[in-house]
Amino acid sequence: MPLTSKQDLRDSYPFGLLAVPKADLATYHESSGTAGRPTSSYYTEEDWIDLAERFARKWIPIRPEDTFLVRTPYALMITGHLAQAAARLRGATVVPGDNRSLAMPYSRVVRVLHDLSVTLTWSMPTEALLWAAAARAAGYDPRTDFPALRALYVGGEPLSPQRRARISEIWGVPIVQEYGSTETGSLAGECEYGQLHLWADRAIFEVYDPRTGTTSAEGAGQLVVTPLYRRAMPLLRYNLADDVEVSDADCACGWQLPTVRVLGRSAFGYPVGNARITQDRLEGLVFGLPARYDVMFWRARAEPARLVVEIEVADEHREAAVQQVTRDIDRLCHAPCEVTGVAPGALVPTRVLTGVHDVLKPRSLFGADEDWDKALLYY
Ligand SMILES: [Zn+2]
Repeated sequence: MPLTSKQDLRDSYPFGLLAVPKADLATYHESSGTAGRPTSSYYTEEDWIDLAERFARKWIPIRPEDTFLVRTPYALMITGHLAQAAARLRGATVVPGDNRSLAMPYSRVVRVLHDLSVTLTWSMPTEALLWAAAARAAGYDPRTDFPALRALYVGGEPLSPQRRARISEIWGVPIVQEYGSTETGSLAGECEYGQLHLWADRAIFEVYDPRTGTTSAEGAGQLVVTPLYRRAMPLLRYNLADDVEVSDADCACGWQLPTVRVLGRSAFGYPVGNARITQDRLEGLVFGLPARYDVMFWRARAEPARLVVEIEVADEHREAAVQQVTRDIDRLCHAPCEVTGVAPGALVPTRVLTGVHDVLKPRSLFGADEDWDKALLYY
């Protein structure tokens, strides 16, 4: 069988890969593609058991006593629904906190985390940093004022070991990584030794080498998956096109499942002079700064002749932080750079962290002294 590509999925939009009567479908999803035809995926009620079970495999388990904040999108994508289904399967209380909804600004996330004694969360890693900043803006210390918190489940974004360690340190709880896609659901989860294990009992995994056109069970290449329990939309040898390294070496956890290192598109970078700069590399340098400098937010622009970097850092640590990042870029990336320390709030404005939106309902009749510009356009 040839590999199935993302293009094959696009060509089959929306229901070309439907393998059951449409009445059997439970949900329809699309992945977060930016342009062009979307990629559809759909699941039956039975498929959802497999999806929820895979997501629920966590070394820090979901328990009935847990209060679980789901902070990934619910609209079209599968991620929010996956976490919700897994938490419900394990009997936890779900707090749906969609990160794309105006109804849930950061100030409200902090209120919920604190007042509801949330024990588990599911989000992108960056969210956990934004919550920390929002918590501080609300007068809380993330490490001590959220004692119920047990773990942060994260995924959907590359995460360097340095940033991961910093997030864990800020919140004082373990970070548990997850890897998957809207077309497949969870494909790998982390064990207590920090290794991502492929769910090889639920899918066949192969590693595809685009240079030779061959596949193997181990090694470096693109991850190809054939889910074994799936009715609505079977996938045969689906090439996720994520760069990975798969290994069959034993892990101390004893799970007997192959481990995977997901490089994603982190290998992709921008040229600066003779160097190629990747986000992963820069992130490692920024989060390699001493914790007391408290640097959480940064941005960089790769210009042809120099790398321009801005980091948010308080006055008292600015000079030292700028010096260290400049030195490390010079030493490890060999690229000319200009690093600037900007005041906290310059990259992530305080109003974003503390603001509350009015959640309105559509309305057509207004009083004489009310602003009727909000008529009908209620968001
Ligand atoms: Zn392991």
